[in-house]
Amino acid sequence: MAQLINGKELAENLQQETATRIEELAKRGIHPGLVVLLVGENPASQIYVRNKERVAKKIGIHSAVKRYPATITEAELIKEIEFFNQSTEFHGILVQLPLPDHINEDHILLAIDPAKDVDGFHPLNIGRLFAGMPQTIPCTPYGIMKMFEAYDIPLAGKKAVVIGRSNIVGKPMGMLLLAADATVTMAHSKTLDLPAVASEADILVVAIGRGHFVTKEFVKPGAVVIDVGMNRNAEGKLIGDVKFDEVEPIASHITPVPGGVGPMTITMLMQQTVECCERQVLDHE
Ligand code: NAP
Repeated sequence: MAQLINGKELAENLQQETATRIEELAKRGIHPGLVVLLVGENPASQIYVRNKERVAKKIGIHSAVKRYPATITEAELIKEIEFFNQSTEFHGILVQLPLPDHINEDHILLAIDPAKDVDGFHPLNIGRLFAGMPQTIPCTPYGIMKMFEAYDIPLAGKKAVVIGRSNIVGKPMGMLLLAADATVTMAHSKTLDLPAVASEADILVVAIGRGHFVTKEFVKPGAVVIDVGMNRNAEGKLIGDVKFDEVEPIASHITPVPGGVGPMTITMLMQQTVECCERQVLDHE
């Protein structure tokens, strides 16, 4: 039986640490601020944004959600971002993705001041991560690294396989594992014989977005399995990319869905908002 990696509990502990840091800043009259730009009415985005607002409020981050109609033009949205780039009230800017089709997401990410890019998606921050000088880091893989740390999971010299190569999860995950001296394989939809590749892994991170795709044939006995997936099954229930019931008996550690990676993502977002604030305010004192 695997040890469960309890993301919910770890997230609460880390949020408490961040809250203490915020209290210390408040004594000096510094109040970290996060602005979230939400375009249109995407129901999943509405939920994510509500959750972010709730956690920000709980730990003492000053947060605001700016809502725009789905008809806003790219130029208008960039103008809004430029306004918040200049603001001293907000130290972090997050544009909730996805955006409507007529807006080019790359143009939007490039418009955000890299110093305020709390999501770590700006190419400058991605480049910094690649070059070994990270500043802000995509929150989901960053949260997963915190899980390895908290559960004393060694990475150096281990074989890590990451399934999924998105810019927001898979690729930065691979970079972080490499920086931690793991030997990393990045797998994706064109990978041949995926179960054979995956079952080489000591550390298996799955981020593909297909419910219960990873069965026990993908997993080496004793492997650490991290499930990033968030999918709805036919009954509308939230399920991961990993068939938990089948994999849990053979893994050494495993994350549940829900209660695994999800709560860590939001937690790292808050931590990075505070860090951005500290860099913007304290470094200029
Ligand atoms: P994405 O941009 O859609 O990327 C999916 C990746 O999976 C792609 O690289 C794709 O390969 C690969 N893939 C798809 N089908 C595959 C298959 N049959 N075999 C092997 N690889 C396959 O997704 P994402 O944004 O990274 O998100 C992945 C999942 O994580 C989703 O369920 C999402 O909801 C979830 N997620 C959760 C959190 C959280 O906080 N828990 C945060 C972010 C995302 P190609 O590149 O070859 O197409």
